[in-house]
Amino acid sequence: MRLLVTGGAGYIGSVVAAQLLEAGHDVVVLDDLSTGHADAVPAGAELVVGSVADPGEALGRGVDAVLHFAGTSLVGESVQRPELYWHTNVVGTRLLLDAMRVRGVRRIVFSSTAATYGVPQHVPVEETEPAAPTNPYGASKLAVDHMLSGEAAAYDLAAVSLRYFNVAGAWRGFGERHATETHLIPIALQVAAGRRERLSIYGDDYPTPDGTCVRDYIHVADLSQAHLLALEAPQPGQHLVYNLGNGAGFSVRQVVDVVREVTGHPVPVEVAPRRPGDPPVLVASSRRAQHDLGWTPQRQLAAMVSDAWELARSLPD
Ligand code: UDP
Repeated sequence: MRLLVTGGAGYIGSVVAAQLLEAGHDVVVLDDLSTGHADAVPAGAELVVGSVADPGEALGRGVDAVLHFAGTSLVGESVQRPELYWHTNVVGTRLLLDAMRVRGVRRIVFSSTAATYGVPQHVPVEETEPAAPTNPYGASKLAVDHMLSGEAAAYDLAAVSLRYFNVAGAWRGFGERHATETHLIPIALQVAAGRRERLSIYGDDYPTPDGTCVRDYIHVADLSQAHLLALEAPQPGQHLVYNLGNGAGFSVRQVVDVVREVTGHPVPVEVAPRRPGDPPVLVASSRRAQHDLGWTPQRQLAAMVSDAWELARSLPD
């Protein structure tokens, strides 16, 4: 297939683009390079620099389906600047879908998020859990999920929303390179590398075994594999939703211990106030993805940390 990967210069998009090429697909990347890096686009993919709000040129290159990663994805920023999230994620995707309909491109895989569930009532979280996002980021992704359901029903789109839990790790030189880093594992690795003094643990008084938040970490290469499987899954008119995680929870302190073990370096920590909007425990049930897509995650937390560590050390400061 010939695939358009929006956001293919970013973290997850670049890994998926590389895996698609390896699987024998043709890849066109559409990215405005606002947070992505042109040199993260894998060799062999065509890069169109531009916005998802104006995707005509990229879609016009004989595209059969779209994998849509482009968007804004920081919870804290979404609280500070909600309008940015509604514009980029919701208006941007609306315009992309309109352009796809005009050009007869009728298949899409969308990057949704566990943040659509907010603070879930049941853990592990199934797809039947009510969506109740607690920040504009999660709300904007949920709005797109609803948009896709409507578009599928009305206009025979074949659509999949993949709800990611905590994505980590790197794959063959493709990985996380955020200018402003907010995520736990990359920050802990910066501390291990001596680039930061210490890690702030956001709250140690949660109702969890060691008081710190519990998350479900999934390796970006496993996550990416789910996209290749999801691409073929829906029939026209169907919108499928899948949670993607490993099904195991690790606390912030446990993650820091793994970083210490893998890197062999100390990681000094301090306890800081809770970060607003953080649910105490988020762990996925990926039973539906495993059953319907035949997807099984292969890599554990230590592999995520060591792959991210290897990539971080290979990049200039
Ligand atoms: N976290 C932390 N210190 C940091 C960054 C993150 O204690 O410097 C915690 C955060 O509160 C959450 C977990 O680590 O409980 C994972 O956060 P991250 O930002 O990596 O992903 P999120 O769960 O927000 O998607």
